Amino acid sequence: MASEFDLIDRYFKRRTPDGMLGVGDDCALFGVPAGMKVATSTDLLIEGRHFFPDVDPRALGHKSLAVNVSDLAAMGARPIGCLLGLALPQPREDWLSAFAEGFHGMADAAGCPLIGGDTTGNPGALAISVTVFGAVRAEAALRRDAARVGDDIWVSGTLGEADIAYRLMSGQMPPDDGLLACVRQALEWPQPRFALGQALAGIAHAAIDISDGLLQDLGHILKASRVGARLRMADMPVSPALAGVPAARLRHAVLAGGDAYELCFTAPGDRADAVRAAAARAGVAVTRIGSVEAGTGVTVLDAQGIPMTDLPAGFDHFRSP
Ligand code: ADP
Ligand code: MG
Repeated sequence: MASEFDLIDRYFKRRTPDGMLGVGDDCALFGVPAGMKVATSTDLLIEGRHFFPDVDPRALGHKSLAVNVSDLAAMGARPIGCLLGLALPQPREDWLSAFAEGFHGMADAAGCPLIGGDTTGNPGALAISVTVFGAVRAEAALRRDAARVGDDIWVSGTLGEADIAYRLMSGQMPPDDGLLACVRQALEWPQPRFALGQALAGIAHAAIDISDGLLQDLGHILKASRVGARLRMADMPVSPALAGVPAARLRHAVLAGGDAYELCFTAPGDRADAVRAAAARAGVAVTRIGSVEAGTGVTVLDAQGIPMTDLPAGFDHFRSP
């Protein structure tokens, strides 16, 4: 059996970029350019709660970093590096090797190298803690409290796929292998919008990444900014893969589905062309779905322009479903 240090060397120690000190010392070292702030965020993933125990370890490695990189994107920050804490029931090398491959793949794609961490055995559930660091100009950071009345509300990519994948895999929808094959990738291999987030810094006002559902996450922006919003259901970028999903289920997936890791952001109406240019540079589709208004809360207009009632809520760990 390899020692803890052999395993770290084998799977987690990689060459770090010039000017940084990575895995192997008491601390990692990195700097940020003058005039920039460090953006940092951490997420904890627990087996059985955030992922299925039998999930592909490569996908799990990818997703544990992806959800953190998504937070940097939602701040408009450029990734610098990350830390990985692992509590492992038993250190199986085939599992570690696949997990590390998925993790480093995401790290390479986002320019967010693994620069340290901690590894421990734990007879209970597998737990994964990732912390990311990024850099952002303070005045350009996409803060939740920065939405203004009159801003347009935008969302990147499409909505609904990850939620439908989760419902299918957890048995909350009747089995449909054809549909699952189309949507599973969205749940297990989310693509954080780090290029878009950086491109929007200095253009957009407020942003958040959609982890708990559009309405709930947008709600955080509205509350922090002390404003309300009006959305148009007909303008939502619904994934075309979901064409056969029953209407009520689909509406719920689009408005309240979690794990999307798309960006929801607000920008002044006269910056719409700049938003579109930023999205084109980042290679991501963006859609205008509504506007920020005075007041509180969200109104969603249906296809006839009538406010929808019984809007679904998003995910909350401390509230029963
Ligand atoms: P310490 O006892 O000082 O906490 P450790 O023995 O825990 O040091 O870790 C040794 C080195 O390996 C450190 O540089 C640490 O950052 C790194 N490390 C440990 N576990 C991981 C991990 N899961 N991923 C990346 N680096 C790790
Ligand atoms: Mg340690």
